Amino acid sequence: MKGILYVVATPIGNLKDITLRAIEVLKAVDLVLAEDTRRSKALLNHLGVSCRVVSCYGEREEERVPMVLDHLSEGKSVALLSDAGTPTISDPGSLLISKVWEAGYKVVPIPGPSALLAALMAAGLEPKPFTFWGFPPRKRGEFISFLERERKRKERSIFYQSPNRLLNTLEALLEVWEDRFAVVARELTKMHEELLRDRISRLIQHFSETTPKGEVVLIVEGYQENQEDVEIESLREMYNQLLKAGLSSKDAAKALHALFAIPKRRVYELAQHQMEEKP
Ligand code: SAM
Repeated sequence: MKGILYVVATPIGNLKDITLRAIEVLKAVDLVLAEDTRRSKALLNHLGVSCRVVSCYGEREEERVPMVLDHLSEGKSVALLSDAGTPTISDPGSLLISKVWEAGYKVVPIPGPSALLAALMAAGLEPKPFTFWGFPPRKRGEFISFLERERKRKERSIFYQSPNRLLNTLEALLEVWEDRFAVVARELTKMHEELLRDRISRLIQHFSETTPKGEVVLIVEGYQENQEDVEIESLREMYNQLLKAGLSSKDAAKALHALFAIPKRRVYELAQHQMEEKP
């Protein structure tokens, strides 16, 4: 176990998810590189591990390279941890790992929890193929352009998102990718774990009533060739039902928008279409 950089996955909530190998490695290494030293020290204390822990995030990552290479050259071993889950997955570490490779030392993965895979394995969706995007662009304009660019991807998309941006993210998705099937996996492995599988419009409804808290993974179905035909058909059916129930075309359009969060643009297109179809 000497002169090796171990990349060690740690729990994403439930401490019982640490692997036996991770504990063994953490007990044996000479140095631990951590995103947040306080968080990692708490985990190491819980595991009964006492060893030197230094921070490794942002600019610090590059600064730590000489220190890590010195340790490895002396035949010592080093472990890289992130705050939670698998290092480098929307977390720091890739730069350091590539430098260790370039310097000719061995890199060993110690796999374990990852929010992305935990969400995917419980989602009940065919997991292959998928694209993992990490955190989507924060600015609405940039996110909308991103969604427009990637709209016709057939594979499912997986995003990380903070709870306070979840609703806006779902609304933008509904606007551009329309009402696809999606899964929200919240607080995985923790006390308030919640997995919701539904159409984006229904998830919007849910999270408009219950403010999401905690950490979130969002999985969205890919584009289907006949997606637009299916949606226009079911929209048309609902619109006709509302007209039959006595609503004016304007009120029916408003109701569809309010009840199902269907973008106004789509509803007006539909109303326009129906008017043109009338003899
Ligand atoms: N490296 C981590 C991994 O392997 O999953 C992810 C780190 S990333 C900085 C943090 C994001 O991962 C959170 O904002 C959330 O989107 C997702 N995440 C982490 N833990 C989670 C959990 N317990 N439940 C749901 N999502 C989680």
